[in-house]
Amino acid sequence: MTSAEAAAGYAAGRDQESDRAHAVPRPAADGPPPWVAACGTPVAVVQGSWSGRRGLGSADPCPDCRRIAPA
Ligand SMILES: [Zn+2]
Repeated sequence: MTSAEAAAGYAAGRDQESDRAHAVPRPAADGPPPWVAACGTPVAVVQGSWSGRRGLGSADPCPDCRRIAPA
């Protein structure tokens, strides 16, 4: 699997308290809440792709999620 394919397998989640972006595995993101990011942090909102501007392209992507789900 290439890194691009790995990134496509994640949605962008957001922790509303910190505004930090996390990677949420697609199968989980497509299901009902609560959602848990790849790093284990619960996220309140899932919006768009992890590889997009709400994920890795955002101001504060989670370093743990970035390591687990690189673009
Ligand atoms: Zn994270």
